[in-house]
Amino acid sequence: SNGMVILGFIFILCLIALLAVGLVQNKAQSENFKYGIVFDAGSSHTTMYIYKWSAEKVNDTGLVYEIEACKVKGRGIASYRNLQEIPVYMSQCMGRAKDVIPRFKHQETPVYLGATAGMRLLRFDNKELVEKILSSVSSLFKSYPFNFQGARIISDAEEGSYGWITINYLLGRLKEKHSPKSLFWRKNESQSTYGALDLGGASTQITFVPVNETHTSSEMLKHFRLYGRNYTVFTHSYLCFGKDQALLWKMARNATQLQSDLLLEPCFHPGYTTTMATRKLYGSYCSRKFNNLDQGDTIRIQGTGNFLECQRSILELFNASFCNTYDCVFDSVHVPPIWGKFGAFSAYYYTMSFLNLTSEDVSSEEMVTRKMEEFCSTPWAVVNTTFADVNKKYLSEYCFSGTYVLTLLQKLGFTEYWNQIEFLNKINGYAEAGWSLGYMLNLTNMIPAELPPPKPFSRP
Ligand code: AMP
Repeated sequence: SNGMVILGFIFILCLIALLAVGLVQNKAQSENFKYGIVFDAGSSHTTMYIYKWSAEKVNDTGLVYEIEACKVKGRGIASYRNLQEIPVYMSQCMGRAKDVIPRFKHQETPVYLGATAGMRLLRFDNKELVEKILSSVSSLFKSYPFNFQGARIISDAEEGSYGWITINYLLGRLKEKHSPKSLFWRKNESQSTYGALDLGGASTQITFVPVNETHTSSEMLKHFRLYGRNYTVFTHSYLCFGKDQALLWKMARNATQLQSDLLLEPCFHPGYTTTMATRKLYGSYCSRKFNNLDQGDTIRIQGTGNFLECQRSILELFNASFCNTYDCVFDSVHVPPIWGKFGAFSAYYYTMSFLNLTSEDVSSEEMVTRKMEEFCSTPWAVVNTTFADVNKKYLSEYCFSGTYVLTLLQKLGFTEYWNQIEFLNKINGYAEAGWSLGYMLNLTNMIPAELPPPKPFSRP
């Protein structure tokens, strides 16, 4: 009967559907994925990234996904004195890693921790504490089923270079694409890479392939061979020029001359008031030169919201004669002339994206200046209600941060080249820009020095 035919038809359809699902699942299971974990222990906080890639395509560029970014609760690892607190927070993210990565992959999954300028600063003062912090983190990591590969402070040059590798890897700039276009790939291969601009809490890095490296001191040049090409990059990290340390340093410099306990701060909005412990203000390696012993335990800070004065006070940091350490010289570090495209990430991105200054329409330094003049002079009460759901600490500092980003980029030589900068966060949906992916790619040998030989034609 008709009914039987319809039932039979439905049965066959179900069978086909089941088969299709089975095939897809089988394919998913047979695809062999690999995982890697990197803890980016920055000055203000630590983030754990989990990366995933197909084991069959290791030699390709731009194929690593960031599948998790777990913010470790609490502050940066350099600021703990009670070492027992560190593992408590870290273990929450490690627990997350155990859930996200399939159990049968745990043993082969490498875990790295790299610490940056926050720990470099602490190393100047207390090497022993640095060792204790790193070994406390290490013993926590060893108690997990992953393949722990070490916790260390990465060098300035590594931080800059790995950030450069990350963005160029994700933007697919390191390897010719397998498309007919590559036949016309420009002869001067280095032209195709992006420069990297990274702004952290305690330091800032600039890394790019200079047009002509002959005038640059050789210690600032690093050489790489990636996918069969040679690259010479200029890289420099400016300690104390990260955005948190620069603010502290600037305020300490101004506070030291006070006759009273009230600091008028042009980089904070009018109507904004706060207090700060002098122990904190003068407690950093970057600000302690200004320690004023006569001052009490706290100072009061009151915003005046004046962009021009804010910028003037920031510019003084760049004047080497005010500098208390050999590291923070600025103009005397010779940055080769800026050229080509640049990707600006971390606090460059957070700041400029909040201020709506990342779009291509904001293509000049004057436009940024105008926006900052207007924003800084806006009363705190207005800013506070307009952006009610933004983190208050970041919000109160965006006038400073934006002015600082502007001034830093001017000092690095971008005045005429503003439209060459792209503010980047997550690149092409794959992974966040920063040194951590490049670090893992390098340590797992995922970027070969030589291009793999072309696959031989298969014989019929
Ligand atoms: P680090 O901890 O060294 O990676 O530094 C990152 C910098 O970015 C620090 O100065 C943080 O305070 C800052 N930061 C992180 N998230 C934001 C945000 N949403 N807005 C503004 N600044 C941020």
